[in-house]
Amino acid sequence: MGTVVGANRNVNMSKDEIILEGQFEVFPRDKIVYKVECTRSGITYYPLDGVKSNKTLKYIHFGDVVGCRCRKSLDQKHSNKAYLTVFSYPVRKKFFGEKFVRFKNHITFARSSDESFDGNRKAVEKWRRVILHLCQELQLDKKDVDHCPVPPKTRLLVLVNPHSGPGKAMQIFQKQVAPMLDEADIQVKVIQTEYAGHGKEIMKKVNKKDYYGVVIVSGDGLIYEVVNGLMDRPDWKDAIKFPIGCLPGGSGNALSCAINYSAGESIESDPVLHATFILIKHRVIPMDLVMIEQPSSRVYSFLSVCWGLIADIDYESEKFRAIGEARFTLQALRRILSLRKYKGRLSFLPVSEYIPKSSNNNTTKSLHIPTKNRRVSMDDFENGDNDAYDRLRTKSVPWKLYNKKSFSESEEVEEKIDEELADVQESMASGDALPENTGSDEKSPANGEIKFALETENNLDNMVSGNGKPGDTSSVNCVQEVIRLPKSVDGKIPSILPPLDKPLPSDWVTLDEEFVSVAACYQTHLGSDSIMAPDARFNDGIIHLSFIKSGIQKGELLQLMSLLEKGTHIDFPSQYIEMVKCLAFRLEPEGKEGIIMVDGERVDYGPLQGQVLPGASNLMAIQ
Ligand code: ADP
Ligand code: MG
Repeated sequence: MGTVVGANRNVNMSKDEIILEGQFEVFPRDKIVYKVECTRSGITYYPLDGVKSNKTLKYIHFGDVVGCRCRKSLDQKHSNKAYLTVFSYPVRKKFFGEKFVRFKNHITFARSSDESFDGNRKAVEKWRRVILHLCQELQLDKKDVDHCPVPPKTRLLVLVNPHSGPGKAMQIFQKQVAPMLDEADIQVKVIQTEYAGHGKEIMKKVNKKDYYGVVIVSGDGLIYEVVNGLMDRPDWKDAIKFPIGCLPGGSGNALSCAINYSAGESIESDPVLHATFILIKHRVIPMDLVMIEQPSSRVYSFLSVCWGLIADIDYESEKFRAIGEARFTLQALRRILSLRKYKGRLSFLPVSEYIPKSSNNNTTKSLHIPTKNRRVSMDDFENGDNDAYDRLRTKSVPWKLYNKKSFSESEEVEEKIDEELADVQESMASGDALPENTGSDEKSPANGEIKFALETENNLDNMVSGNGKPGDTSSVNCVQEVIRLPKSVDGKIPSILPPLDKPLPSDWVTLDEEFVSVAACYQTHLGSDSIMAPDARFNDGIIHLSFIKSGIQKGELLQLMSLLEKGTHIDFPSQYIEMVKCLAFRLEPEGKEGIIMVDGERVDYGPLQGQVLPGASNLMAIQ
């Protein structure tokens, strides 16, 4: 059995096994020769004529590396040298505050030990193949170091919405995202959407075998289209497992924020760079969806259902889309100052015992075994065929998991690289005994020789044992009830929901109240400055329902809004605010006028119900 690379990551370099070593210059300096060592966790280098000490030692961590490339000099003077550029994005602490942010730091090594360019090139290409394995956490035995192939390339379908946010999605993609994907040897097919609904149509027809996954450069609206396009296909059960990635290109980028947050990467500083970094380093993580039923429609939601204050803010701020995310803050202040109330019924099937903070006599609640913990399990999504995803990348270690700061080179070097060096075409390796593995793998990545791992995290423990947060009433001795739903028949997803016009079972809770806001969320974020459900996970199988009852003061709402930025609102002591974990819910607004938003898109105003579909989809993320 070979060693699994990355399984035993060790940041203590002295204990790290040396896989390759050599002597290189570091571009653009050609007077100093460095001793360069490649270990399983990174590359260290120090001047050959100096001592190896903390002062002279420099370090590139593979957790920061997205790719590397062989190059040659355009200058005849260096015609025998072969270069290796390592594309690294280490973290540094911002001068003010506690934040760590990534920055581009590409380091180029030059080899001239051989007289011929070919000899140097072959040595450098071996380093490249090994580094690609290690930075992608692919299995690599020491005995295979001389013979490992280039890992298969990934091909992504990228959908860009020119209408999202301030209309800069294509610019963001071309300027910031495409160059990083290129460094990681990720190939892309880019489609700019032409109308609302185009993304859905594309996903209904796309041949999944042509791509590894789909990446959305937009806001949450286009992700919603993609999810519903996949669920609209006759092969939905398989199609919805097509990995989805997202990059912030809109004004509401909740899922992208949730992905950065979950990976421990910055949301405030350069969110696109951090999101692209995660996309390159991702694992495939199951993500819950929520099936939403209305009298004449059924849709699939990945983010939220909002009614009342938050829905009004979202919808009424559409006209300020050009100012980006600030549109939400602006409209929130306006809406809070002229607060509305919404009468209706909110029902839900809680995960564990529900204890109301305050109650009028219209609250009904079952007297079920009070310590019971429920979850939904669905044969359709849990026993799926995961073979197709064996080839998926494994994640690297986000910065928060290691504490050794990467050493960095001067950024001025960057500009010189492109002026003085040219990429060595992969075809140059064709005469090698070990040709680079190009071409066929992009058409049929499943044929790649390298096996990738699929994250199969089981969050049941998290859910059942509770998280110690306020409102979490689960106990150690709780009884667990698994609501197991069988496989769908004739394409119909089995449901725990009764028909919308029929009464709910007795174990549901119903509140007949006047509300200020109701929000069912299944991601941590609703926007970059609202961490609505800080303990949510992509695949926790839970709908995080929060509601604010009428009676709350405007001042309290403003306070709540500022706490929402850090997710500390969950500790806010108010009898009018409640947060409940549930598996399903039903909304029955009174009256005919109002706004209900599903994933930031307006739907018909009227009764609506939803049920969680645990781990129904697949997300490219780090958790
Ligand atoms: P934002 O965060 O700015 O709202 P979204 O991704 O939510 O960005 O997109 C906003 C809306 O634009 C969505 O309803 C989506 O369906 C729609 N849309 C997608 N492509 C186009 C297009 N080419 N022209 C107009 N609207 C589009
Ligand atoms: Mg939107």
